[in-house]
Amino acid sequence: MSNNPQFIELKSVVDQEEHDFADMQQRHFKVRAQMALENDTLRKSFRGASDFLMGKRKAVFPDSDELEALRDRGEAARQRSLSKLPELLEQLERSLTANGVHVHWAETAEQANDVIHKILERRNARTVVKGKSMVSEEIELNHYLEQHGIECLESDMGEYLVQLGKETPSHIIMPAIHKNKEQIARLMHTRATTPDGEAVPYTEDVDDLIGNARAILREKFRTADAGISGVNMAIAETGTLLLVENEGNGRMCTTVPPVHIAITGIEKVVEKLTDVPELLTLLPRSATGQIITTYVNMISGPRKEGELDGPDEVHLVLLDNGRSRMFNHPELKQTLQCIRCGACMNHCPVYARVGGHAYGSTYPGPIGQVVTPQLSSAGGLAENGDMINACSLNGACGEACPVRIPLPDLIRNLRAEAVKPHRNVGVGDERVPGAGTQRHLTEALIWKGWSTVHKVPFLYRFSTNALAMGRGLMPSKIGPWTETRSTPKPAAKNLHQLARAAGIPDQPDD
Ligand code: SF4
Repeated sequence: MSNNPQFIELKSVVDQEEHDFADMQQRHFKVRAQMALENDTLRKSFRGASDFLMGKRKAVFPDSDELEALRDRGEAARQRSLSKLPELLEQLERSLTANGVHVHWAETAEQANDVIHKILERRNARTVVKGKSMVSEEIELNHYLEQHGIECLESDMGEYLVQLGKETPSHIIMPAIHKNKEQIARLMHTRATTPDGEAVPYTEDVDDLIGNARAILREKFRTADAGISGVNMAIAETGTLLLVENEGNGRMCTTVPPVHIAITGIEKVVEKLTDVPELLTLLPRSATGQIITTYVNMISGPRKEGELDGPDEVHLVLLDNGRSRMFNHPELKQTLQCIRCGACMNHCPVYARVGGHAYGSTYPGPIGQVVTPQLSSAGGLAENGDMINACSLNGACGEACPVRIPLPDLIRNLRAEAVKPHRNVGVGDERVPGAGTQRHLTEALIWKGWSTVHKVPFLYRFSTNALAMGRGLMPSKIGPWTETRSTPKPAAKNLHQLARAAGIPDQPDD
């Protein structure tokens, strides 16, 4: 097969796409965004996918009053849980332990990786199947396990494709949203092998593509030493881990292998089973426009004596990675309300144009802009300063969010944090990592001067007169702002002059 000219040609295209992706990820945000904007295929994929998902969401929320009432309830449910987060986490640990689930706490991404690796080592596990888990992406678990000689295969179709292409997810719900049918066909044909070790036949038929992947994954589920999954909600009252999914791979990962390791952020805890319907009513509707997902898995412990199915060992890793700091911040705490539905991305005009990879982070789009700088492992505002500016503050994300996270306000808040005078220092400081690192002295002085001029009437009149007189001296370019815009020109007459000409007298303190 490797000598087949068609195979060689398709493989070279796939290799080039892998190379382009790796190259893009080395660049800064602005360059990545520019590269994405110049890629017509990518723009078409994202535009089409965003329109499709927005249309599906709209269709399942036909009554706007009902939608707003549901959002009120969703927001209240998340805020209720967050208001007693420390207590609920302790209760969750007690309930899970009573159910026979081992609970592990990880303050950092490194600790989470280490905990999972140790569990796998103790069980002598060499092959692992993983259901979709953005937290495992956040800690770069696959890479860590690979370095320790453990194969970790993604089993969600989108994640599987992304892994084959050596990429990262470009959307939190639809990881391979950026790929079209032809790209997927090439990828499957040149990178995947059947259980018999043959190249997968080339096909652009979606059902056949899915069928081929299913045959490969079935075998992997059957033989894997362990399964890893994410968690959508962890219910403190009953010690239950809830996962929603559409492909059945989550159920396979959590029940077929002898060990199941779940990983989640500490914010995913809810108090009672009665909190679940409120959030489950919103999550699939907002994510994929479904009333309910095909599978809703509720795991409350390992296989009991006499039971035929299920793992004999279940673990939950609770990850912090900066979430406690978010929890202690009076406004940014609302970040933790997120139920990871992805609706804010689908409604974001910036995301729809540049796509997820341009952000260079695990979580792209509006929620990515808010959560990424706050994670301990993501380089804070020093490395993500450009990302928070990729927003027109049009407010669509905040209006789409099913749990009413005020995303535009949080983005503005982070922009302020980025330019605040003092730098973040020391452990226990609740400021965002890298706060103050985007502050530039010249810019700060310009704004200081601007505010002084606008506070002193005499200075304001003098400066607007001077600008009107010197308008002809305005340079044609004033930095990056005018790379894509025309240069603003002061008016020939300022407002006072126009008012006087219209017979409106100056006010006493004007
Ligand atoms: S911020 Fe809101 S809309 Fe965005 S992923 Fe989270 S819950 Fe969904």
